[in-house]
Amino acid sequence: MDVNGSCHCGDVQFEAQIDPKRVGLCHCTDCQIFASAPFRTSALVLGDQFRLVRGEPTTYVKTAQSGNQRNLVFCSRCGTHLYASPASGESTIYSVRVGVLAQRAELRPVAQLWCQSELPWLSSLPEIRRISEQ
Ligand SMILES: [Zn+2]
Ligand SMILES: [Zn+2]
Repeated sequence: MDVNGSCHCGDVQFEAQIDPKRVGLCHCTDCQIFASAPFRTSALVLGDQFRLVRGEPTTYVKTAQSGNQRNLVFCSRCGTHLYASPASGESTIYSVRVGVLAQRAELRPVAQLWCQSELPWLSSLPEIRRISEQ
């Protein structure tokens, strides 16, 4: 499936081909902090199926619990998180943040990772009062 992504201000844009069966959401504490959200949804992309079309994003190198390093890539102007890419010499798997994709509504996650750190109130989300706009 062809997808395209953009940060909020539009300075950084990319295209990718994703397998909709490789979309997952992650409850790890790093994702909670970086996304400033209860979880983050990502799609895995092979490096040769990812193309930066516009802009020069900023990179923050994260060292995971496993010791692996990943580049976390975001827009230096508006701060939107866009994707993670391999730090040098590692695998070529990109992890594209589904929230920045134009096709995000069609991409239903197939798995949830790091459920041990899931925020405790998340399972009661349907019971929380809903307001259609502000
Ligand atoms: Zn931006
Ligand atoms: Zn995570």
